[in-house]
Amino acid sequence: MRANTSIRVRLTIWYGGGLALIMFLFASALYVVMSRALQDQIDRSLEEAAVAASRSLEEHRFGPFLLLDDLTQAFPELALIDKFFQIFGPQGQITLQSANIKTRNIPLSQTALQSTLQGRAIFETVRFHDEIPIRLLSYPIRHGETLVNILRVGTSLQPEEEMLARLVFVLLIGSPLAVIVSMLGGWFLAGRALRPVDTITLTAQRIAGGDLTQRIETTSKDEIGRLASTFNDMIARLEASIRQIRQFSADASHELRTPLTITKGETELALRKPRSPEVYREALESNLEEIDRMSRIVEELLLLSRADLGEVHVASDLVQLDTLVQEIQLQAMVLGKERHVETTLGKVEPLQVLGDEWRLRELILNVVDNAVKYSWPQGTVQLGLTQHHGMARMTIQDHGIGMTPDEQRLVFDRFYRTDAARAHAQKGTGLGLSICKWIAEAHHGTIEVTSTFGQGSCFTISLPLLPAASVRG
Ligand code: ADP
Repeated sequence: MRANTSIRVRLTIWYGGGLALIMFLFASALYVVMSRALQDQIDRSLEEAAVAASRSLEEHRFGPFLLLDDLTQAFPELALIDKFFQIFGPQGQITLQSANIKTRNIPLSQTALQSTLQGRAIFETVRFHDEIPIRLLSYPIRHGETLVNILRVGTSLQPEEEMLARLVFVLLIGSPLAVIVSMLGGWFLAGRALRPVDTITLTAQRIAGGDLTQRIETTSKDEIGRLASTFNDMIARLEASIRQIRQFSADASHELRTPLTITKGETELALRKPRSPEVYREALESNLEEIDRMSRIVEELLLLSRADLGEVHVASDLVQLDTLVQEIQLQAMVLGKERHVETTLGKVEPLQVLGDEWRLRELILNVVDNAVKYSWPQGTVQLGLTQHHGMARMTIQDHGIGMTPDEQRLVFDRFYRTDAARAHAQKGTGLGLSICKWIAEAHHGTIEVTSTFGQGSCFTISLPLLPAASVRG
């Protein structure tokens, strides 16, 4: 149930719950503060009345007034008191009380008597059954040190009770209303804030359904906007890699189908009628060539896919690059003999790197083999090895068919061959440079190309040097 509850509902509940708690605490505090303030106000007015009356009573010798009128005549202050009053004798017996209290006899409590005997005024609240409570102040009236009378001033707490009841009423109606309004507001705001999430979910569902061209429309730069653009980037990368995989499978099938078609065609042609052993031999030789080509493609593909999975072990031995370059130069001379392509050595510094000698040989040989293969007849290929910013920099410069800038960007892609290369040399898988790129990167290095179409190319392989032993001693 909890897991199914939407964020919107949960946010609204939290929002409403939080506000309800705040409202409750606020209302309780307000009630307490208000009731205290009201009581203080009442107490103060009782005190003021008592002080004013007692002052004149104390000043005069206080005779036993039996009639209220006589008393109020003698002490006009008492007539001004808007509250009821009582006057008790020093033992607590009632002597006089104002007319507005006649219906009720409110005796002096023991606490009040004790307190006034000690000269202290005392406040009390009394409640008779269900009636409105009364606030009382018992005030000692003394002549010198002797307690002559106790003046009691009292007032009904009705106005205070009513005011507090009204406050409670307002709070009881207002608080839930505020909570409901805030929950509605919270529901609305959460809905607005979460609407982009719904859009993301919908788009994600469409993408999950197979449509990788879908993107989330976003213009905002807030959290949701950032999430959306991260999501879009991720889908773009996914789309690119899926397109690459599809392209790769199509290219792989195409590259394998060509030799298969040739093999099939030649075999069928040879079998169409009886032929001389020489013709059969020729057909078989041609088939073998195509089979070799196919096995090369399959081997290279296997290597690349194992490299992608990180399953190819790359050794980390000391490799003397200059020796490697010199050996490859000799091999290249043999390779270029037929087309009179000469491979020369430029500046070759003695440099060492840590790596897999066999793989590094494969890397350099592949690039040099291409340089010879795509050179014009009688062209030259020059190899160089120098140190540059802590890297061993190997250059393979040829004078051959070259590449356009667009082609230069694509030559390291699997199965990519330029049109000029296809026309120039039929043989080739388009996988060699992909393998070279993997080997260079597996050695924390790079391979780059600069080229001029029709004139020649220069491949640069950079590998991190072995710091201490970079120069042969
Ligand atoms: P291939 O088997 O076709 O040589 P590679 O992966 O080694 O495959 O090279 C990919 C493509 O890069 C080649 O088909 C060619 O178009 C281009 N290329 C590589 N080396 C050179 C070069 N030295 N000069 C011109 N083009 C080159």
